[in-house]
Amino acid sequence: MLHILLPVVLALAAPHRPVVAIQPYGHVDAAVVDRVRAGVAADYDVDVVVLPARELPAAAYYRPRARYRADALLDDLDREAAGKYTKIVGLTARDISTSTEEHADWGVFGLGDLGGAPCVVSTYRLSRGGASQALVDDRLVKAVGHELGHTFGLDHCSTPGCLMADAEGTIRTVDAGTGRLCAACLARMQGIARVAVEATKRAGGAGGN
Ligand SMILES: [Zn+2]
Ligand SMILES: [Zn+2]
Repeated sequence: MLHILLPVVLALAAPHRPVVAIQPYGHVDAAVVDRVRAGVAADYDVDVVVLPARELPAAAYYRPRARYRADALLDDLDREAAGKYTKIVGLTARDISTSTEEHADWGVFGLGDLGGAPCVVSTYRLSRGGASQALVDDRLVKAVGHELGHTFGLDHCSTPGCLMADAEGTIRTVDAGTGRLCAACLARMQGIARVAVEATKRAGGAGGN
């Protein structure tokens, strides 16, 4: 009877579609959350679920700068995702920071766990320079796509315009980016990212702005 059972077992073991959860921390506008949900669904071949908002964990608060440590938020998100979600994206309007080689506490747009489950993005720095809502939305979707790319194992990329370019703390890098992965990064995503390579090629000729 074993030959009859085998196909059933194989069917049960088939890989599930990746599930990306979005966790709003504190108050995040519903329209912003929806923009991120749509952006992730457009960029990645995954199911997206939006979790009920909850408060930022007090343990992540960094009192000297009145902001939240992104690394502590990743730990919090990792615990939440365990066994339930392939990836989890924390979203907050509060400023977030991490440690770099030169700075003990450095404000960032976002942070992602390379090859892990969690990433977090803050809208706090995305509205700088009197940006329009459309531009802020564009920056937000790029920032989330970039941090999710890290969780899918992509490191920073030196190809001009690639979504995985290191922003190096300046919003101009984000604005100059195409929001798309370059061909090499796309190949590393093994079918999870549904990004047109042509978009990167087109943007390659549009430098100098
Ligand atoms: Zn990065
Ligand atoms: Zn790239």
